[in-house]
Amino acid sequence: MIQPKMIELEKQLNCSQNHNEPIHMVVFDKKLKRQERLLCAICMETFEADTKMIGFKKVIQMIEDKQKNKVENIQRLIKVEVDQVEQLLNELHKIKQKLIQELDQLIYNSVEWIKSLNDIFGIINSQYSFFDELEQLINNPQQNIFNSQQLIEQIKILNNSLCNKINLKLSTLKNLQLYSQSDLILYNLNLSHHIQLIDNSIKQSFSCYAISFNLSGSLMVSASNNDIKVWNFMQGNLKELTTLKGHIETIQCLQFSRKSNSFVSGGHDKSIRCWKQINEKEWKSSQSYQQHTNCIECLIFNQSQNQLVSGARDYSIKIWQIDFINNQLTYLYSLDKHTNNIRSLCFNQLENTLVSCGDDKQIIIWKQDNQLKWQFEYVVTQTVQEYGCRLQFINDDQLIWVTGKKVSKDCISIFELRNGKYQENLNKEVQLIQNDDVIDISLFPIFYTFQYISASTKQKL
Ligand SMILES: [Zn+2]
Repeated sequence: MIQPKMIELEKQLNCSQNHNEPIHMVVFDKKLKRQERLLCAICMETFEADTKMIGFKKVIQMIEDKQKNKVENIQRLIKVEVDQVEQLLNELHKIKQKLIQELDQLIYNSVEWIKSLNDIFGIINSQYSFFDELEQLINNPQQNIFNSQQLIEQIKILNNSLCNKINLKLSTLKNLQLYSQSDLILYNLNLSHHIQLIDNSIKQSFSCYAISFNLSGSLMVSASNNDIKVWNFMQGNLKELTTLKGHIETIQCLQFSRKSNSFVSGGHDKSIRCWKQINEKEWKSSQSYQQHTNCIECLIFNQSQNQLVSGARDYSIKIWQIDFINNQLTYLYSLDKHTNNIRSLCFNQLENTLVSCGDDKQIIIWKQDNQLKWQFEYVVTQTVQEYGCRLQFINDDQLIWVTGKKVSKDCISIFELRNGKYQENLNKEVQLIQNDDVIDISLFPIFYTFQYISASTKQKL
């Protein structure tokens, strides 16, 4: 470990009055400057002040402790990076091994190919009978003795089988899967500097299943069992403003409006509530809206913030008109096609497509009809048969989907709009770091910003 060294020598430090005596005490006074704060035994005899004083040895110890702490922090930070680069190195070695292995196979196959071609020559040309040849010479002197058809057939069969074999190996070399792990590490190395832990000092004994920020980022609401806590968020600090009561069971989702200081909450009590800010600490709750018959799992708004879509464990999606000004909801209709809990909902950017997924392992596409009413369109075909935990449109042509099983494929599936339908693109599937220790749930929705995606509680992406 690198030990930071003090520039000044301890014995060179002189007191405020240059007595050339060892320093005994240090005055903790903001108004004094450098040497003025140092006192030797002679200084101390006449020193008089009510400011804080600390023994010199103790001050040296305090500074050394601080330095030690700084070194440890720096080393910890660097170690995280070094560990990741080591992982990358490890991956590169693995790729190298794999490439060498595959190339050796390819070279071996090609050498064998040449051998087999020469063998054909050998089988056809190595032996002949004197009497048969004589017969030919006498009876059919003009006939071409060489029948190339048979040879061409044999070569064709041989070439075909080896072309296939080599093609298969070449495609393994081109396979993106081989490089996905190193891509991921590089991605993490790139990302780790963008995200910093600001404060993790706030602990609560009740579970927190939802968090939402207002548009300006100055207010945050969070769930604490049945209650909602409102926080002021300033310069990286959270300050609790108030606790809102209303729900009678655990709150599962909170969604701030993008237009005003209003938000919507949904919970295990099957109800949805709207909340409107009255002043800094006061919020008004709407009535409790009960249309779902089981826990509310997800809530989304359209961009104009006049439509709310809710998904629940009653297998249904409900469409609501929302009026943030009057703090009220109007139930419109229900979409019933799923056969298990709804876990995630998302609009595309044009907002003419709504997509939903859940524990029935189905991804369903809904479209707006001429009356702007949502209608069932189709069930997306997928290869991963696991329950869907969250989904998100990256753009109008691409949709990403993550499953939540404990023991699972641990990947992000990509669906792309082709011939008017969202179709799985297995080539673009993103393999995540495998983790079969925990179940993934839909509490952390996917946030997509440019090329960075945070998708899962199980893995970093
Ligand atoms: Zn002195």
